[in-house]
Amino acid sequence: MKTPIKGSCTLVGAGPGDPELLTLKAVKAIASATVLLVDDLVNDAVLEHASPNARIVHVGKRGGCKSTPQAFIDKLMITAVIEGEHVVRLKGGDPFIFGRGGEEVENLHKVGIDADVVNGITSGQAALTGLGVSLTHRDHAQGVLFMTGHAQPGAQGPDWPSVAQLCHQQRITLLIYMGTSRSAQIQAGLLQGLPAQTSVAVVQNASRHDQRHAVTTLDALHDTLHAEGLSSPCIIAVGDVLTALRALKDNSPIPMRCAA
Ligand code: SAH
Repeated sequence: MKTPIKGSCTLVGAGPGDPELLTLKAVKAIASATVLLVDDLVNDAVLEHASPNARIVHVGKRGGCKSTPQAFIDKLMITAVIEGEHVVRLKGGDPFIFGRGGEEVENLHKVGIDADVVNGITSGQAALTGLGVSLTHRDHAQGVLFMTGHAQPGAQGPDWPSVAQLCHQQRITLLIYMGTSRSAQIQAGLLQGLPAQTSVAVVQNASRHDQRHAVTTLDALHDTLHAEGLSSPCIIAVGDVLTALRALKDNSPIPMRCAA
């Protein structure tokens, strides 16, 4: 007979960084957790909602960096739940947007643990809101596409010329996560289906006090990123919704280069 599982696991989206963007549900889950497993893109300020008795474990996992292996994180979660802990897995943005939340829910399910998931505001959304840009302004876009710029090991990654064609034909705003280290390839691929003058914004640390951004055109994406020293975590946004912002930048007497 299977031992009943006494603990619980909730995957909680901590949002893009601004701790005031947490949902009420996230705050409640954090407050009732006995163990918190925290990703490195989570702003530590959200931990002020945690119980003083809770055990807090930082399990950073950044593409390309040395970090806690996913299998170890899964094991930690499962062991704690079996021991009767109320585990909150805190993830940056939304747990189901490139956060490996799907894999974690599957792995928990395999051992008989049903995880709850609490949405968070994804960084792509916060990045454009921070610039005052509507992702789906109906004069410029009829959809949004969330893409990863980081191919899985052994996989080819996105076919950027096809993505560009789709975005061009269907007037879609493109949000690229984890794209900074491959900006040259992304630019070259997208230029095969989108005009060189397509508007682009790169937003680093969206919604945080140290948010910075640059507004440019597709043919200057890679150079701009380097010239401005923008690095991970960044969202690369591409599409006509950004054109008004570019016009503002071009006409503005004050350089809008990197807004605080
Ligand atoms: N689940 C997260 C995404 C995790 S993937 C979400 O919904 O936002 C990690 C990538 O997210 C980073 O490489 C970066 O591209 C993006 N990202 C996360 N937080 C960010 C922030 N505050 N500003 C800009 N990009 C961010």
